[in-house]
Amino acid sequence: MSVSSSGAGGVVPGTEAPRRFRPRLRYELMSCGLTGHELVGTDAGELRSEDAIFARPDPATGLRWYRCLRCDAWVLLAPPDHPTRDCPPEREQIELPLRGRPLRDKYVLRLIALDRVVHFLILGALAIAVFVFLHDRTQLRGSFYKVFIDLQGAFGGPTSASHSTILEDLRKAFALKGSTLFTLGLIAAGYAVLEGVEAVGLWFRKRWAEYLTFVATALLLGPEVYELTGRITVFKVLALLINIAIVAYRLFGLRGGGQAERAEIERDAGWEALERALPPAPPAGAIPSRDSTSPASPAAPAGM
Ligand SMILES: [Zn+2]
Repeated sequence: MSVSSSGAGGVVPGTEAPRRFRPRLRYELMSCGLTGHELVGTDAGELRSEDAIFARPDPATGLRWYRCLRCDAWVLLAPPDHPTRDCPPEREQIELPLRGRPLRDKYVLRLIALDRVVHFLILGALAIAVFVFLHDRTQLRGSFYKVFIDLQGAFGGPTSASHSTILEDLRKAFALKGSTLFTLGLIAAGYAVLEGVEAVGLWFRKRWAEYLTFVATALLLGPEVYELTGRITVFKVLALLINIAIVAYRLFGLRGGGQAERAEIERDAGWEALERALPPAPPAGAIPSRDSTSPASPAAPAGM
């Protein structure tokens, strides 16, 4: 079975043989674990033959089999004591859950969104710090030197290299022109807003947010590589790798545009996908139901 067929027409998630070395995430099962199965018709008094794709009576027990529309698991439940509707909703009224690749994309986009939230918080704090510093610089200057001289005394003089680097950096910060600092603060604030907007858009799987992330991340790859020509830190390398991964992922994801994405959702998460993954025979017993109380005798499952 190909990878993309998981949960979308071939293998029911969680039923394939386990791989030895590379475990596989089953996003359908993760979603069902978090939010429960997507069952339809549990509140319906009667099941019709066309409902067999997601709900079937079990004549032997009088119970009903419900199919989770996301993970394809069949769940055996009792019919409702007090049905709130005569029969399950029509297909057009049912909002199908994401499955297959579109569902995986949702998880990846949310991971990227969390990465952007971290950027938003760091840059936001930086912008606030710059503006506060700019505002109180004259007051800070006096106390800064006093604190620093005290610290130097405590650590036994300006011998440590790291201390003198910090001192040098702070001296530079105090020496910067007000307008330069203001510009730096504005850049940090603007960038924080950009990251925040990206995070919100990505979380809700907005297409514009994917393009925005792609452009913003790709533009920053240059400066990030340049940064590495200076001092290389684990953090810098990690940030660069994350961003390259994001750009590569979106590069492949964006190739088809919105239309291809809709086609993909239709292929992996539409009614056709559900029909492809339908077992050839009802899971238990035959479809004809309930003795002879229902005059419209249900036929074979719809879509077979
Ligand atoms: Zn499920």
